[in-house]
Amino acid sequence: MKTRTKLLLGNWKMNKTLKEAKAFAKDSVELSVLAKENNIELGVAPTFLCLEAVKKINPDIIVAAQNLHYEEKGAFTGEISIPMLKEIGINWSIIGHSERRQYNGESSLSCNRKILAMIANDMIPVYCCGETLEEYESGITKAIVRDQIRTGLANVAKEKASKIVVAYEPIWSIGTGVNASKEIAQEVCAFIREVLEEMFGATVAKEIRILYGGSVKPENIKSYLSAKDIDGALVGGASLDIQSFKLLLQNIL
Ligand code: PEP
Repeated sequence: MKTRTKLLLGNWKMNKTLKEAKAFAKDSVELSVLAKENNIELGVAPTFLCLEAVKKINPDIIVAAQNLHYEEKGAFTGEISIPMLKEIGINWSIIGHSERRQYNGESSLSCNRKILAMIANDMIPVYCCGETLEEYESGITKAIVRDQIRTGLANVAKEKASKIVVAYEPIWSIGTGVNASKEIAQEVCAFIREVLEEMFGATVAKEIRILYGGSVKPENIKSYLSAKDIDGALVGGASLDIQSFKLLLQNIL
């Protein structure tokens, strides 16, 4: 069975101009060396505009898109396809981030189309799931997350599923500074692994990496990563500054 390598992924959202992204990429080279020496996978998800430059400047950092379209080409104004990404060496993408679900009408069903297209093209999706504050307060977190996982990952072949990364991001903790406690995060991530086991069997479920995301900071990252079912972090705000990104990495070495 494949062991789960720790993964630290920064989601830049709509931040950083090309010039700023290039400066970060240059500074990140030494962090990639440190990550590699410690068997940690390190990555960032810049805007489409900056993907190629970041990848060129630091070929050792995972460079992920923040979204993509499931069709190869066609009349989809404003969209970016898998062949376009692959041509510039991009093999990863975040899928179904809550901000895309909230502002761009993304659903678990549309995520499923994207994930199936990615897998058919040997790409790695980082599939985001998580409940709203209202859902959390109503005690239906697990039902929501279960549905997101079952729908988003439907029809993924068992032999391909271990490459997928899942990110549990309670919406009420994204960018708010209100963290889910380590215990809550672990409970939901363990539950996600149970759902993955129902879908893909125990061995594959044990190989799939599950990240926690939501106001992760250098001060709290270690605690999350000490939880049994949390294999890394998807970090927004605290990944933007190179010093903070460095501390996030150093604190999980
Ligand atoms: C995110 O964008 O995925 C995220 C978790 O953001 P933040 O770390 O800023 O809460």
